[in-house]
Amino acid sequence: MYAEEAARESETLAGLICPQCHTQVSLFSGVSPLTFHCLRNHSFGVDRLIGTHSVAARETLCALVSAWQQKASALGKGADQARREGCPEVAARFDREAGKLEARLQAVRSAFLLEDSKVITLSEID
Ligand SMILES: [Zn+2]
Repeated sequence: MYAEEAARESETLAGLICPQCHTQVSLFSGVSPLTFHCLRNHSFGVDRLIGTHSVAARETLCALVSAWQQKASALGKGADQARREGCPEVAARFDREAGKLEARLQAVRSAFLLEDSKVITLSEID
């Protein structure tokens, strides 16, 4: 199940392009800051990806966000079940994973908000 999810995540990531060398983004790491890495080993934050104003980047990040949301809610359910079954260690592990995803979601959301507020500011100047 985890391998499948990882494969789906990397498939989704393939829609992202490195702002520096324009090769595919292959993985991400960290939570705060959330860092993306391209096939040539450049690394950059989500704000750089959003800052490219690429429609594909935005769509891909939205797809990633919805995948993380699904995963976080599945982990939350798993944690509840583990607690009911008397496995607090397993529940704690699920909770930690869900917390990490929530932090990543938050990082992408706030980067979007920041970028959108810049756009609004620019149009107000016009
Ligand atoms: Zn690159």
